[in-house]
Amino acid sequence: MPLDLVATSVSEREARRHLDRLVGPRDPFDGHAGMEAAADYVADVLRQLGYPVVEDQFRVEGRWYRNLVASIKGSSSDGEVLVVAHYDTVPDTPGADDNASGVAGLLEVARALAGHRFQKDLVFIAFALEEYGYPGSLHYVQQATARRARIAGVFDLEMIGYTSPIQTAPPGVPAPAVGDFIGIIGNRRSEGLVSLFEEGAARFVPSLPVEGLIVEGNGEDLPVVRLSDHAPFWDAGYPAVMITDTAFLRNPHYHQRTDTLDTLDLPFLRNVAAATAVAAALLADPAHAID
Ligand SMILES: [Zn+2]
Repeated sequence: MPLDLVATSVSEREARRHLDRLVGPRDPFDGHAGMEAAADYVADVLRQLGYPVVEDQFRVEGRWYRNLVASIKGSSSDGEVLVVAHYDTVPDTPGADDNASGVAGLLEVARALAGHRFQKDLVFIAFALEEYGYPGSLHYVQQATARRARIAGVFDLEMIGYTSPIQTAPPGVPAPAVGDFIGIIGNRRSEGLVSLFEEGAARFVPSLPVEGLIVEGNGEDLPVVRLSDHAPFWDAGYPAVMITDTAFLRNPHYHQRTDTLDTLDLPFLRNVAAATAVAAALLADPAHAID
């Protein structure tokens, strides 16, 4: 399948359908039923797309939670490509941008790549409890390290649905004045992933502005760049990028009751998911031998 078809098969209408089901309180306390319903929905969609889904369970303060892991084996044992997003929220927010947007994007990437075989394994993960110090991704990374997983790259979709005429940035970080771009944050080990995303987007989703940022170390000097599930992968030495609309640097509804579906820019979300699908396909099959 040519990459232009991968890009165009990502659908705004399908993303909206996912968001209609996902948006609503999904915190592990007051929103527990909503969080479980979101997890069930994600698992159902991935299974309908033909992916086997495994629940990766972990325990926090005496209670069990689950990451949902869907994967397809590659044609060579040449490593793994991960596309991830968290499905929980903080309390008292419907979490449309944070992070129903990322989960809807993940489901659309999964749909765009379904039925194709790549050289590398392709793994989609919906993480629980990112908002609580990311025990879900920490648990997953511990297991990956123990089995010496060869992870070629992680694409972490962390808030991908909001645009604004106004953009702010932390001191010392260059950023455009208008918040219409998607940020791709990597560390030095992940520079190749950032370039891959930029090149794929420029070629196959040219209307999407992309701003890459490489941070030193694992982002310790700029804590805002560590606020998602890619951070445990960085800390374990795996290449990973956070794909983000920059959260509270742009979105005033961050962690508020007003983080609702009607505030999202769905054509933008679609474009980000399309560019992520292209980047994942490029990494999973560098020879573009997609059939
Ligand atoms: Zn988030």
